[in-house]
Amino acid sequence: MYPVLVGLPYDASSSFLRGAAAAPPLIRAALDSPATNRWSESGLEIRPGHEYVDDGDIDLSDETAARTAIERAIARILTTGGRPLSLGGDHSVTYPIVRALARVTPTFTIVQIDAHPDLYDEFEGDRFSHACPFARILEEHAGIRLVQVGIRTMTGHQREQARRFGVDVIDMRAWAAGRRPEVSGPTYVTIDVDGLDPAFAPGVSHPEPGGLSTRDVLGIIQSLSGPILGADVVEVNASQDVGNATVRVAAKLVREIADCMREAGSEKREEGG
Ligand code: MN
Ligand code: MN
Repeated sequence: MYPVLVGLPYDASSSFLRGAAAAPPLIRAALDSPATNRWSESGLEIRPGHEYVDDGDIDLSDETAARTAIERAIARILTTGGRPLSLGGDHSVTYPIVRALARVTPTFTIVQIDAHPDLYDEFEGDRFSHACPFARILEEHAGIRLVQVGIRTMTGHQREQARRFGVDVIDMRAWAAGRRPEVSGPTYVTIDVDGLDPAFAPGVSHPEPGGLSTRDVLGIIQSLSGPILGADVVEVNASQDVGNATVRVAAKLVREIADCMREAGSEKREEGG
């Protein structure tokens, strides 16, 4: 089971600023940049065509058919034994990704890093807005448990939704008080980069002060025992970025996720290697 990098250039479900659709090639360029090397923190070289496969970007120019196209593309990756590592795109892409995944593996935990719960039943008349994906996921899939980390914009409605769906919310105040996610077994990781503090990741559509550090997020990824079935890194908006800082953070997260996808519960460990 190997990571398959796939770009989802889609931002038509963004409620405020567009721009996230431009992120996939920028994150790839940062992964390839001679400013750094390809080695993960655990000491594994993460090379395209070796430690992961790069499937390129999905054509999502027909915005009305985007969710279907994403679900189909992820299903194809899963059928060939890959583990999808998706580059957003806005956070609405996680719903069709998880739909495809849940058809193969109905029971798993989602770890969501985000400033926002994204649990609205609908947002400004759109049930598929990037403010809604986890409401759609949880009402369709009883086998999925959601753990959110970094939340700091909880509304009354979303608090009700979190209670209704049994979401484990580790908001920033709980995080600061020392609470950490307790997750074992099959896991899907979704990282909205606005979960990080704007000091670390300013290039997002909805910057929210008081968030996680890059190190905090790396620590969460590296703490997962897995297997990690798939992951996405979404909501990078380079039009808001400062000196490419956010794109660079996203690339670092992608590299570490790819490493942990291979390590946690993969053939490497199963073979005892
Ligand atoms: Mn967010
Ligand atoms: Mn989000």
